[in-house]
Amino acid sequence: MQVFKFGGASVSTLERIQQVAQILKKYQGQKLLVVVSAMGKTTNALEGVVAAFYAGNKEEALRQFEAIKATHLQFCLDLNVEGHTLNDFFTEVEWLLHDKPVRHYDYYYDQVVCVGELLSTTIISQYLAAQGIANQWVDVRDILRTDNNFRDAGIDWTITEQKVTQQIVPLFNHTDMVLTQGFIGATDDNESTTLGREGSDYTAAVFANLLNAQNQTIWKDVPGVMNADPKLYTAAELISELNYREVIEMAYYGAQVIHPKTVKPLQNKGIPLLVKSFLHPNADGTIIHNKKMNRLPPIIVYKQGQVLVQLSSRDFSFVGEGLTAKVYNQFEQLQFKPNLTQNAAISLQCVVDDHAEKVEGLALALAPDFEVQVTRGLTLLTIRHYTDGLLAQLCADCQVLLQQKTPETVQVLLQK
Ligand code: ASP
Ligand code: MG
Repeated sequence: MQVFKFGGASVSTLERIQQVAQILKKYQGQKLLVVVSAMGKTTNALEGVVAAFYAGNKEEALRQFEAIKATHLQFCLDLNVEGHTLNDFFTEVEWLLHDKPVRHYDYYYDQVVCVGELLSTTIISQYLAAQGIANQWVDVRDILRTDNNFRDAGIDWTITEQKVTQQIVPLFNHTDMVLTQGFIGATDDNESTTLGREGSDYTAAVFANLLNAQNQTIWKDVPGVMNADPKLYTAAELISELNYREVIEMAYYGAQVIHPKTVKPLQNKGIPLLVKSFLHPNADGTIIHNKKMNRLPPIIVYKQGQVLVQLSSRDFSFVGEGLTAKVYNQFEQLQFKPNLTQNAAISLQCVVDDHAEKVEGLALALAPDFEVQVTRGLTLLTIRHYTDGLLAQLCADCQVLLQQKTPETVQVLLQK
């Protein structure tokens, strides 16, 4: 049994969907659980629908949703798929959009946004079947049980495992391929939930774990895991082999390689993760497993849109455990995480993402104890396995506001 995940980019155009079918053809006769994301930028578009709806702009929400419907119906036409099979999903959303929002934003977000994956998989399942690739479509909301922490739902592993055993495993007696959605799940009350943006990688890992898969493959539009984002660093190169720990670290520092929650379910069962290009399916890509790695290239991660919050004690008192605890309590209350902190005698500096509301909340709450200074528009550069030469090269032309080094990792806060 293998688990495949195809992301939004792999199903964003007709040619790419046809390419996915070509890839899957090569695996015919093998047992596959295939997880597919929403097509292209559908999730972003659905986010727009929710925002308009929640702002009370029903007409705008419906108008934006019409555009999403039209795109999907066009795919149906082009791929020779029966468009009416999407109707129930359309209706589900439209019903909701006719209501007035009375619940939390995140609740509506999940009810609307989940439809992206349901539409894409419905279309692709039928298209594959017509290409002679037999598959069983599954509504993952019947399998993947979560809590009701909408937009960042936590998985109930016990119930999900039962459902996988009782409902997914038997399907493989009749079919080689089960096709389902990433990113979404449902609560005990059958309300839809999502696992956080880019969560399909994680869904695939949950299935890989529960099905004891021999491996998981994430098919992407890049050759594999790169040592930097090629858009930001032109000399970026493919890393052919990595271990779980390195990938977790990379994700932690902000590399947009793989959803950070993906690694644990795989690591726990020693299931290798392959990252491959759907454009060059025969190339090796990257393998991530448990091996200890001796030599890794420098790994470069840029986090843009960073904010430096400088906290200085008001009366020259030391920032001891009392004041430090106050700062961290605020972070906890705001569910906000500093990306870097540095302590000095009478000050504490925190680098955070630019969540305007949270930054403001933090500044306000700490104002009685600290003088607060906020600097926006910064970049946090992290280099793992750095060399001093590379560090100097990447910091040239920038002002370095903060720097932290360990033998393995250097982080610098840059102002351009
Ligand atoms: N469609 C979702 C997103 O764009 C989930 C995913 O692609 O992993 O975030
Ligand atoms: Mg995606």
